[in-house]
Amino acid sequence: MSFETLGLSPAVLQSIKDSGYENATDVQAQAIPAALANKDLMVSSRTGSGKTAAFILPALEKILAARGDNTKRREKGKIYGPRVLVLAPTRELAMQVAKAAQTYGRHIPGLKVATVLGGMPYPLQIRQLTGPLDILIATPGRLLDHLASGKCVLENVEMLVLDEADRMLDMGFIDDIHVVAGHTPPTRQTVMFSATFAGHVGRLAQELLKEPMRIEV
Ligand code: AMP
Repeated sequence: MSFETLGLSPAVLQSIKDSGYENATDVQAQAIPAALANKDLMVSSRTGSGKTAAFILPALEKILAARGDNTKRREKGKIYGPRVLVLAPTRELAMQVAKAAQTYGRHIPGLKVATVLGGMPYPLQIRQLTGPLDILIATPGRLLDHLASGKCVLENVEMLVLDEADRMLDMGFIDDIHVVAGHTPPTRQTVMFSATFAGHVGRLAQELLKEPMRIEV
């Protein structure tokens, strides 16, 4: 399906064109319009299916919409934290997501993408968390450290993405995910990606999602 029919903005469509993509993949064709309609999603799709763009493109639209909304104007010097928070199980995956956000967001002036990853130095992360910030990509353990020390504000999160949720649970992040989600507003949109929604992943989805749409490709 053509990207033009999915409801994306010119700035986002331009970066897709730059990437040379001709058509949206199955998961993109299903998830993007639903995410733009503000629906919570439970998505199962393999790595390589284009799943990163399936959540990053709608996330970029949230940022663009907020920029055009006077009621969401941000004052200089105040700490707002991110509007979009992506949780990922590993540093490698989180860095891939951050790279995708930069690539697909390159026509959005001043877009601020930050990563908070275990095993990396704290000072830069703290600077990014307390400065202007649109999209934060984090591994759960390190984000929890920053929340505990009061260095991270999540009260303005409009969209929470859990990438590879089954792997995060296998790695023992269930309690961390609950704490992180508890710091975000209940009005947020939540999008979960997982190979399976059986067992404990399904229970987590029930706790975090509201009337979710199920997408399996
Ligand atoms: P992912 O499943 O997110 O890991 O993406 C796998 C690869 O597919 C990445 O290298 C993307 O650059 C590429 N990709 C994502 N969407 C498309 C698309 N619509 N057409 C062609 N390639 C794509």
